[in-house]
Amino acid sequence: MLEHLKDQAPDKILALVAAYKADPRDDKIDLGVGVYKDAKGKTPVFRAVKKAEHRLVDEQTSKVYTTLAGDPAFSDAMVDLVLGDTVARDRIAAIATPGGTGACRQGFELVRLANPDATIWHSDPTWPNHISILNFMKMKKSPFRYFDEETALVDFDGMMADLAAVASGDVVLLHGCCHNPTGANLTADQVAQVIALLKDKGAVPMIDIAYQGFGDGLEDDAATTRAIAGAFDECLIAASCSKNFGVYRERTGVLMAIAPDAELVKKAQASMNFLNRQNYSFPPDHGARVVTMILTDPELRADWEAELEEIRLGMLELRKQLAGELARLTNSDRYAFIATHRGMFSRLGVGPEMVETLRKDHGIYMVGDSRINIAGLNADTVPILAAAIVAAEKG
Ligand code: PMP
Repeated sequence: MLEHLKDQAPDKILALVAAYKADPRDDKIDLGVGVYKDAKGKTPVFRAVKKAEHRLVDEQTSKVYTTLAGDPAFSDAMVDLVLGDTVARDRIAAIATPGGTGACRQGFELVRLANPDATIWHSDPTWPNHISILNFMKMKKSPFRYFDEETALVDFDGMMADLAAVASGDVVLLHGCCHNPTGANLTADQVAQVIALLKDKGAVPMIDIAYQGFGDGLEDDAATTRAIAGAFDECLIAASCSKNFGVYRERTGVLMAIAPDAELVKKAQASMNFLNRQNYSFPPDHGARVVTMILTDPELRADWEAELEEIRLGMLELRKQLAGELARLTNSDRYAFIATHRGMFSRLGVGPEMVETLRKDHGIYMVGDSRINIAGLNADTVPILAAAIVAAEKG
């Protein structure tokens, strides 16, 4: 049987991790994989997570199954974190999922159950796993222009022109904040225009929010999601806790489906529970319980928010430093976008040859599309990267 399996293309980012590990140079710099790293290159456990885990060990009296939707307290806490009071709680069905990836997958599954003919529109580029999961599920998909390679900012005219072809019932997948892989985000005014267009077309928005708190702060990073969720009768939201709680391997995420009335909420909830049952039955609970504890305990929450804010401001500082250094070395503002971008990533907009030169000649590893992980830098390596970029530009 197994001989019939075809080869799978290796994941490009994981291949990059392997190449980085194998590189003997001491001064190599890893800007590839999308995990947060501190100035020492470590991905630490948040203080509040450690405390919550200790408490869990002491206080948990059973590990019996939760519900197919996970612990309802987790859904409540996440709805509150992502949506605040934008949408009445009784209009939202929710399930815990294994990470944001699980939430995206279950969201696509829900679309397929409800409307197998729907096309899912996604930004070009988007997180590659969106595309790969949609391909694997054989769902219809269509890209919309998003990134202007020249300016390294959002190609808003292109985006609106492409979205004009959206059909009624299609699903438009948007990033809630900190767009991966580009770092370029819509302004509030642009979000309002997208909302008007999608309403006009009768489309359903689906939002993937995986970096709340990494861009402009917990509340500001939720603004796009809230504006969209508040404007539609129906909306899907896939949220990940991997980055903002640092619980990557615990697989912690949530899928929310906003519905216009109680009857449809019930229907959506039943289908979402069913989808969990078919795929893995009860969703993972450890990370979800830790997140719930942090979000509902004022002391833990304050500590988590403080640490998250330190991380966010640290990345913002690195952005400013890198943009400043490149402005100085190039005597131009053509890399000013790095300070405008938000989140962990920026797409530099340089070609594959230059990405290759940076790796070969300078030991600097970034994804082939020139996405850099800002958190892979520190105050000492920023000038090294800037100098390498300028040297590589000169060829
Ligand atoms: N969506 C986007 C845009 C992401 O960047 C990620 C993480 N790379 C995810 C979803 C899912 O992350 P996880 O499954 O680790 O929670």
